Amino acid sequence: MRWSQTYIPTLRENQSDAELVSHQLLLRGGYIRKLASGVYIYLPLMQRVIEKFSNIVREEMNAAGALEITMSVLCPVEVWQKTGRYDTVGKELMTMKDRHDHEMILCGTHEETVTNLVAGEVKSYKQLPMNLYQIQVKFRDEIRPRFGLMRGREFVMKDAYTFDATVESQKVSYQKMVDAYFRIFKRAGLEVLKVDSDSGAMGGSNAHEFMFMVDTNAGEETILYCTDCLYAANEEKAIFRDTNKPDIDAVRIDIETVDTPGAATIEEVSEFLKVKTNQLVKTLIYMADEKPVAALVRGDRTVNETKLKNAVSCVELEPANAEQVEKYTKAPVGFAGPVGLTGVRKIVDPLVAEMKNFIVGANENEKHFIDVNIDRDFKASSVFDISTTAKGDGCPKCDSTLDAKSGIEVGNTFMLGTKYSKSLGAKFLDADGKEQLMIMGSYGIGITRTPQAALEKYSDEGGIVWPVGLAPYLVEIIPLNVKDEEIVAASEKIYAEFQDADIDVLLDDRSERAGVKFNDADLIGIPVRITIGAKSLKDGLVEVKLRSSDDIEKIELAAIVQHVKKVVQTLK
Ligand code: ATP
Ligand code: MG
Repeated sequence: MRWSQTYIPTLRENQSDAELVSHQLLLRGGYIRKLASGVYIYLPLMQRVIEKFSNIVREEMNAAGALEITMSVLCPVEVWQKTGRYDTVGKELMTMKDRHDHEMILCGTHEETVTNLVAGEVKSYKQLPMNLYQIQVKFRDEIRPRFGLMRGREFVMKDAYTFDATVESQKVSYQKMVDAYFRIFKRAGLEVLKVDSDSGAMGGSNAHEFMFMVDTNAGEETILYCTDCLYAANEEKAIFRDTNKPDIDAVRIDIETVDTPGAATIEEVSEFLKVKTNQLVKTLIYMADEKPVAALVRGDRTVNETKLKNAVSCVELEPANAEQVEKYTKAPVGFAGPVGLTGVRKIVDPLVAEMKNFIVGANENEKHFIDVNIDRDFKASSVFDISTTAKGDGCPKCDSTLDAKSGIEVGNTFMLGTKYSKSLGAKFLDADGKEQLMIMGSYGIGITRTPQAALEKYSDEGGIVWPVGLAPYLVEIIPLNVKDEEIVAASEKIYAEFQDADIDVLLDDRSERAGVKFNDADLIGIPVRITIGAKSLKDGLVEVKLRSSDDIEKIELAAIVQHVKKVVQTLK
């Protein structure tokens, strides 16, 4: 492709509405433009990146035996009502009405559509296992659609769905997808970590996320991993070995009220009462689908809101505001406690459930209860792991300590069991002629998120440094002076040679100054740059520079294609 024939609107200035480096670079490199919040247009370079990544995904999915189909973005609400997700997905669900006032879902995922399809098509165990996938646009009304393609309201996903006759066969199908995922991300130049994850609204029994670990602030998820053994889990699923058990006499003592003037936070109260924070219990009030819930964790822990959300099975969860806290606890913020707290569900963390003689807020300004005991002084509505696991906690699998890193979820895999096949009637006849429910799995990859995620790692002050697998072009040729006939002839010659060799090549044929071309080349991040200038050309040489290195090599014009082919083998 000639630069003059395509459209690469690079920008000099930093864009004010892009917080992340990767988002900034896609805007400045002329890859994307924003149409509305969370809605983007992919310009020619981005279109090529998406195609590159999609092709890797497609090849590996096909190799794993998956069949590509395309399902409609629209789905009648009735199908989503049958599985219950019409009500449980919450505000992320996008819908539209047709001219007959019939509501349709703008799908954010396709379990409903595909299960409905298979239920009508597949009748016998002989047709199973089956794996159907598509690469297609999705809609989700995300609460915070900032961060560019990382969290769009419209985005492209690869979604695959497996149908199996037995649990054993399901495990094989699942493992095939896991293996394919590692191959896909490796070919794209991304090292990923597979972690245990929460299956949330999907309703499965086992789930993994594929995380691309980054050092920047772009990772929206925290991964806890053991530095010694293989334990790794998402924060919303991670557990820990408790190394800070409170040493309190097991004999129950009577509850007592104490004044705690000026002390409201856990630290202030522990200081004031001269006790460790692990002898206190934090009571936090949340609104779960507009109903109040109290979350109780030990004083040295914090509440993990995803764990809490699962514990109460709600759609929307938010910390109560000061007004709501006062309404339900009859006290200002900071003094909430479970004793005498009526009309509020109490979700108790297991570490609290085993405590004796602990300290809680007394639902009265500047007062706390000491020597509180569960069951005697208040009842838990349910006991559920709701506390956050953090860096420095004990590894649950060995004697070592956990470390934390920020990661971007680029893909995930879910074992779905029979949730969808049951509600949509996806049944088959087994070898004995008995009717059985199909066992399902679902598997997603962010086709538009992944390339942007890559840039959180693969960039420098100059701009993008694409891994070869995702680069829109492999080679960029820069003729330094497009008025010099010899330079132009040499450029055209190697441009044609690269095309003949099936290597994606971009020729910067603009009559711009060298500085402008070099800056743009750095910004858009093509892996191999070939510069053709009058001086070297006299000796039959051109300059080759990799985007990922500062070294410049002089190579004979006649040998350039062979040389590039060799060099590329050494790149990511
Ligand atoms: P997240 O926790 O980031 O919201 P998710 O669990 O909702 O992701 P899935 O529903 O499993 O994600 O979607 C599969 C894949 O699609 C994700 O792994 C991610 O790569 C991508 N994805 C999900 N939501 C978005 C979005 N809003 N914009 C871009 N890509 C997305
Ligand atoms: Mg999501």
